Amino acid sequence: MEIIHVSAECYPVAKAGGLGDVVGALPKYQTDAGHVSKVVMPMYRTKFLLNNDWDVVHKGYTNLGAYWFPYTIIKERTNKLGFDLYLVDIYGLLDRERIYGYDDDSQRFTAFQIAVVDWISSWKHHPDILHVHDYHAGLIPFMVKYCYRYQHLQNIPTVLTIHNAQYQGWMGWDKSTFIPAWDPWKRGMLDWKEAINPLASGVKCAWIVTTVSNSYLDELRQSANGLEALFQFEKGKCYGILNGIDALVWDPASDKYIDNHYSVKNFREGKKRNKKILCETFDLDESKPLIVFIGRLVGEKGADILAAAIGDSYFYIGRLMNFLVLGSGFPEIESELESLKTLSQGDYNFYSGYNESLSHLMYAGADFILMPSRVEPCGLNQMYAMRYGTVPMVRNTGGLRDTVIDFGDERGYGIRFNHAIIGDVTQAVWRAVDLFGNELKLESIRSQIMQLDFSWESSVKQYLDLYKTLT
Ligand code: ADP
Repeated sequence: MEIIHVSAECYPVAKAGGLGDVVGALPKYQTDAGHVSKVVMPMYRTKFLLNNDWDVVHKGYTNLGAYWFPYTIIKERTNKLGFDLYLVDIYGLLDRERIYGYDDDSQRFTAFQIAVVDWISSWKHHPDILHVHDYHAGLIPFMVKYCYRYQHLQNIPTVLTIHNAQYQGWMGWDKSTFIPAWDPWKRGMLDWKEAINPLASGVKCAWIVTTVSNSYLDELRQSANGLEALFQFEKGKCYGILNGIDALVWDPASDKYIDNHYSVKNFREGKKRNKKILCETFDLDESKPLIVFIGRLVGEKGADILAAAIGDSYFYIGRLMNFLVLGSGFPEIESELESLKTLSQGDYNFYSGYNESLSHLMYAGADFILMPSRVEPCGLNQMYAMRYGTVPMVRNTGGLRDTVIDFGDERGYGIRFNHAIIGDVTQAVWRAVDLFGNELKLESIRSQIMQLDFSWESSVKQYLDLYKTLT
């Protein structure tokens, strides 16, 4: 099969979160399974772009409403990611350093999608599957079905994967002219609550919709940032497929970001050495358990209760543990976490920003990873952490529920709590401190989690089985 993935992110080209990791891995494993899997994404001005060689494969000219623009498609020359990687350049819109966060994101991503569809419409053959990811590519199923000039593409099966339904890309109806002339009777296929909603449109128009875990799919029917009824209505074509992790990138035995490698055979020493580096760098106490948080500092991740929960843990449990936080996000949350530093007694630190190599060292050197998420479609951190022998402390939601069993339950290995509230987090911290004191139990859990299988193979098979039902 020839599968075209369209996404705003793809690791290592450009990544802001889990979407990047998934689109950087899934096509590689699909290629390994004998298929032709390609990724098309915007050509941001990233290091990856500058450090690699590219061929121009197509030049086109199309329009975003009245604005006509030339676009260029380039392809990475050596296939170094294990799949064909294409970047779309649109002067003035995509030639930026950051992925998101610009005032004209609606224009940027709509133009990107138009260029992708325009390019595919110039091919002599049709791909077998158009697999689009999140709202940034959510208008494509509509375009190939209902835009007059792309009608010849309407038989290409489309699959939409939702990595995060919080972000939907709403646009006012004044932007409807951005989308190439479309059948006006199909207005409802773009609309949700009097706005153009690219994610909702994707759910309505894609042949199949997948979410990145089963529990998340269930939860979307109750809570989906306004789309609950749509997920109820479309449930017949929605499937949950848990993400895998890229076992080549995330392997403590060969991780290129850490110096002290280890495996399940020698994790005791290996983790100790990595913890030492972390504790020396961040002025923490090596003898105490090290609990880390890695992620976007937003309400979805429960980051708004982090500072208070850390403060309460010291107050109620005592200064028996270290906390190290890595993340960026809302300035209010960042400043709370920053000011907590002044109260540190060599047991708290905060690194503000995005730092890939530090995150790897933290997965390797930490004892526990805390994820008090309110919403977690799949969550990759807990799976990476487990591969590195770091025990997850997670809220019982979405993909966290599907991947972590409380160590109090049969065959369990993590710490789970039910609510994203300070009291629940503090209690989980107390359990972590207690577990840290029980060396035998902790070691058996570490050895167990390092051997859990979160590889892509089974998810890849589920995606391929779904595609087959469409072709
Ligand atoms: P998200 O909702 O942000 O996509 P996921 O758990 O699916 O959450 O993926 C998060 C990914 O982003 C992981 O690879 C994690 O290590 C990485 N990450 C998040 N924040 C940071 C940061 N500040 N520095 C480095 N890596 C980060």
